[in-house]
Amino acid sequence: MDIIVLLPETSEEHIRHILKKLESKGLKANVSQGTERTIIGVIGDTSKVTEEEEDAIRAMSGVENVVRILKPYKLASREFRRTTTEIDLGGGVVIGGKKLQVMAGPCSVENRASLMLVAEKVRDAGATIFRGGAFKPRTSPYSFQGLGEEGLAYLAEARKKTGLPIVTELMDSRDLDVIMKYADIIQIGTRNMQNFRLLLEVGGVDKPVLLKRGLSATIKEWLMSAEYIMSRGNQRVMLCERGIRTFETATRNTLDLSAIPVLKQLTHLPVIVDPSHGVGKWDLVAPMAKAAVAAGADGLMIEVHANPEEALSDGEQSLRPEMFATLMRELKPIAAAVGREI
Ligand code: PEP
Ligand code: MN
Repeated sequence: MDIIVLLPETSEEHIRHILKKLESKGLKANVSQGTERTIIGVIGDTSKVTEEEEDAIRAMSGVENVVRILKPYKLASREFRRTTTEIDLGGGVVIGGKKLQVMAGPCSVENRASLMLVAEKVRDAGATIFRGGAFKPRTSPYSFQGLGEEGLAYLAEARKKTGLPIVTELMDSRDLDVIMKYADIIQIGTRNMQNFRLLLEVGGVDKPVLLKRGLSATIKEWLMSAEYIMSRGNQRVMLCERGIRTFETATRNTLDLSAIPVLKQLTHLPVIVDPSHGVGKWDLVAPMAKAAVAAGADGLMIEVHANPEEALSDGEQSLRPEMFATLMRELKPIAAAVGREI
């Protein structure tokens, strides 16, 4: 038993009663109020619930049905929720709705002046969320590691100036408090996709999470990581395909566009695509961004830098603001062709 579907207008008292029952069996619950139905997602090892016990719950007041989910990820599965989850950031920015959301900005926050400049440029071009890393996962310990809290403060200033909510990476739970102070979306990077303790940490906070796909993670492993976050209570999770490692060396990674329709079948979580890290080369970003929209992505994440040659990280895959503006214009008819807006 994994989902309890409630009858319409079931009273709070009946819901409490059902939750108590679950608790007595060592299970936890996530109550999800839909527009038409309220459902209870049962969290924990439900395999030990016998058929008789399941029938007893089915007979409780307010219960319409009890359903077993066969997938190992339950809260994240489409069986659990049929419609795509909408994550509302306020100010009209909803991820997972008809309108596609575009996250754009530099790989790293480098300094105040360049950040303010690029924030205004991407906003003017139509980006709806601003990105920038203050804690950077770099392959070499000698590379620029990010400005830390100073960088987060600049991001907050850019948000104030442009009105754009910000997404920024959390690498370590020791930085969670400071990230909570500034970010609108917490990014979990590819290298931490299976850092299960970190996933549980962000599962315990009230802030949307963008979970990037691990470098060599299967879609199932990725969804299990989303489940870690959701099992702790935080249901506002979006997935970000950013390329996986294959034998191919012509591109930095291989952007797995087939992940988009696969995820649409398997999960209700919104799907974001990051072609920048997917291909690693600026001139390949636009075609893959277009393909991602055509394939049904709910949003994009694109690296933009005012002067890519001078970038402290990922300059070779960053678009100049003018190229980003052109791409945004070119995406419009593609979005319209698949019933979306941008
Ligand atoms: C980034 O967004 O700059 C980044 C480091 O991404 P990823 O974790 O996908 O490599
Ligand atoms: Mn980057």
